[in-house]
Amino acid sequence: MPVESVFSRLEPLLPSVQKPIQYVGGELNSQVKDWDEAEVRWALMYPDAYEVGLPNQGVQILYEVLNEQPGVLAERTYSVWPDLEAIMREHDIPQFTVDGHRPVGAFDVLGVSFSTELGYTNLLTALDLAGLPLNAVDRGEDAPIVLAGGHAAFNPEPIADFLDAAVLGDGEEISLKITEVIREWKREGRPDGRDGLLMRLAVSGGVYVPKFYDVSYLPDGRIQRVAPNRPGVPWQIVKHTVMDLDAWPYPKTPLVPLAETVHERFSVEIFRGCTRGCRFCQAGMITRPVRERSITTIGDMVEAGLKASGFNEVGLLSLSSADHTEIGEVAKGLADRYEGTQTSLSLPSTRVDAFNITLANEFSRNGRRSGLTFAPEGGSERMRKVINKMVSEDDLIRTVTTAYENGWRQVKLYFMCGLPTEEDEDVLAIAGMAKRVIQAGRDATGSRDIRCTVSIGGFVPKPHTPFQWAAQADHETVDRRLRALRDLLRNDKQYGRAIGMRYHDGKPSIVEGLLSRGDRRVGDVIRKVWEDGGRFDGWSEHFSYERWISKANETFEDTPVSLDWYTTREREEVEVLPWDHLDAGLDREWLWQDWQDATDESVEVEDCRWTPCYDCGVCPSMSTEIQIGPTGKKLLPLSVVSSG
Ligand code: SF4
Repeated sequence: MPVESVFSRLEPLLPSVQKPIQYVGGELNSQVKDWDEAEVRWALMYPDAYEVGLPNQGVQILYEVLNEQPGVLAERTYSVWPDLEAIMREHDIPQFTVDGHRPVGAFDVLGVSFSTELGYTNLLTALDLAGLPLNAVDRGEDAPIVLAGGHAAFNPEPIADFLDAAVLGDGEEISLKITEVIREWKREGRPDGRDGLLMRLAVSGGVYVPKFYDVSYLPDGRIQRVAPNRPGVPWQIVKHTVMDLDAWPYPKTPLVPLAETVHERFSVEIFRGCTRGCRFCQAGMITRPVRERSITTIGDMVEAGLKASGFNEVGLLSLSSADHTEIGEVAKGLADRYEGTQTSLSLPSTRVDAFNITLANEFSRNGRRSGLTFAPEGGSERMRKVINKMVSEDDLIRTVTTAYENGWRQVKLYFMCGLPTEEDEDVLAIAGMAKRVIQAGRDATGSRDIRCTVSIGGFVPKPHTPFQWAAQADHETVDRRLRALRDLLRNDKQYGRAIGMRYHDGKPSIVEGLLSRGDRRVGDVIRKVWEDGGRFDGWSEHFSYERWISKANETFEDTPVSLDWYTTREREEVEVLPWDHLDAGLDREWLWQDWQDATDESVEVEDCRWTPCYDCGVCPSMSTEIQIGPTGKKLLPLSVVSSG
């Protein structure tokens, strides 16, 4: 059936909205494939504004992987701002893709990548604008399969009612497998309709179909069990792990945004996974094991990606990029290649203990030595032991001294507030560290023109981490500690003016906590917040704590659960957690032991890249292994690149 573009109806309305260019598509390297020639059609959504969504690596990778397939079409859709939403409702324009401006409801799959739970209300806007019932069970035979991925999909229970399916882990291979299942089902004449397709996906064990699972509860509100409600559906759903990153060198042709976006560079993921063992870090836990991309593939990707896009900045991405076994060679090789050109390199995440000044110098060869960022995460030594972030203050001071000696003038330090066992003095210790950093800079340079910015985020306990059982700190405690720290810094005559402090109040973290560790009963809160106008909850100017609190109280009234029950309550080992049937590979007993070890000062978990395996469970259960170099390979010299 022909599907018409909505652009002719949309275009005349765009002059009346903010940043209309974000809705027009046609970016360099975007694609519009023939609708009728495609057998399987994906709409890929990042549930935030274009400026945040366009650079998202996950969406860009799947967009290319899927579009490379014959008979498969993928287009992108982003959240529309409330001004356009109102106009679309008035003029009956559905949620559309920015590529072909096709209605999202006409696709086979709406794949939504959730980096954060604060995008959930935006999912509901998109579904509603697309003309799709919010609840999966109400959707018609021809409606797209609404499929969630991304880190938040490791506990999709709060949005389970709105989803047809969810996948855990790396998307490259599973998106193609899902495509094949859909293709086959369509070719066979759609046997057993929509449920027939969902059943085919569910029995594979790699796709979670929430409606095929029933959740029962104990009288006190805890979950009794989560069980499949039809034969053939597995008890556990496993995550997907791409084991050869070199075989998937995407994005090859990065999208070049038309409107301003949060990152305007070509990003190459240099490895996936992290085994440092920071107990708060969900990304590190759920992406294990470490798999490196080889130095030569990185070099080839940088060369091809720059040529295809014209970007003049390359970001080497990963959870802790300085930990790549050949990062020194990668940095030197790329810096040599692009020396004297407009191309600059960046290493978005730098660890104090992996920092090496030679490396930082290589990265700044074509750029400015403006700022360096480190993340000690905890202000006191005791706190850093609890979170297993084994960085001493002396290490940090040594590192920043070297940095200042080498021409850097600004250091940014990241911390969290509200960590398990935290006391006021752990947060106030941040001030002492920042002052030492400034003094180290003054001593190293003889100048008073030294700056340090302290950035603090509220800690949210996340599923599949050792802190998944922890009580989240209430926002009053977090706010009180942050205010005390701010006052301490402000009132310091010697250093106060050299130290900047950036923080948010603790309220959004409580909502994030509800959505992160919530179960299916939280879905009603999300729906009510959305019905009341909740949109773009990741944006402080749109977020309303009062709205979330009032809807949570309304929903949980006369039930054994409450906002506090989901957030500030510590869980016991025996409690069934909402995500226990979703297998990230981590051994539950290991996670529990690590949670107990958090308060035992003698226990330090080393990185299994360099020390023996400590049996977190991922490698044997997922049939994976750590893949690291060195490969001993070198990048090609500049002359080869410039001759192309
Ligand atoms: S199973 Fe062992 S080697 Fe694999 S990630 Fe866990 S601790 Fe590391």
